[in-house]
Amino acid sequence: MLLIDRASFIMKKISHAAMRAGRSPEEVKLIAVTKNVKTDTIKEAIDAGLRIFGESRVQEAQKKISDLRFQISDSKIEWHLIGHLQKNKAKYAVQLFDLIHSVDSIELAEEINKQAEKIGKIQRVLIQVKLSEEETKHGVSEGDLMPLLERINKLKNLKLEGLMTMPPYFEDPEKARPYFKRLREIRENINSLRITPNALRELSMGMSNDFEVAIEEGATMVRIGTAIFGERSKL
Ligand SMILES: *Cc1c(COP(=O)(O)O)cnc(C)c1O
Repeated sequence: MLLIDRASFIMKKISHAAMRAGRSPEEVKLIAVTKNVKTDTIKEAIDAGLRIFGESRVQEAQKKISDLRFQISDSKIEWHLIGHLQKNKAKYAVQLFDLIHSVDSIELAEEINKQAEKIGKIQRVLIQVKLSEEETKHGVSEGDLMPLLERINKLKNLKLEGLMTMPPYFEDPEKARPYFKRLREIRENINSLRITPNALRELSMGMSNDFEVAIEEGATMVRIGTAIFGERSKL
């Protein structure tokens, strides 16, 4: 299958999942995950109509974004950082990304804020929440979420738009459902208690294997790589 066919197949599935849940398909944004995907292929994806791209490493993204800048004149393209961000790369991240999905500590939030302030930017961010006990996963625990929210509320160069999570991998996507449901409940609690100055809109959850379940549970952003670009190999 061609990239354009795979992309439109996924977009159709996104629409159907949204409608099954009584939601409007426009509420769900597709983040095409381009880690380990070559610049030429990303160009092809842009030609196929994709507009939001997710990268997991700052350095890899830096090269692609600057390469593509000379090839495309479509300013509507967005770049999102979906992978873990080290504090010492925050400086580059604020230069490159429209949205950072992976804020998971007060220290990181403060550093992003500081770097954004330096370049006069209001950086859009999501908080990555860790809902399972897996040792390797990044993200703030539910217990540490409240202090992080309170701190972010005071940071003038951050605009908190929502939450992100990454459940453990399950063969059966139904097993991921409780994690997606939990993230939505957390957002609803935050919004009903008015913990943040603006209501949180976004829920970044769902990948190739489980995005339909995530949409049924309220995802507003799904991060899809393999289902669009095929199995990844290292660049
Ligand atoms: C790689 C990655 C994805 C996409 O995963 P696929 O299974 O290839 O769709 C989504 N989110 C994050 C944080 C990732 O690192």
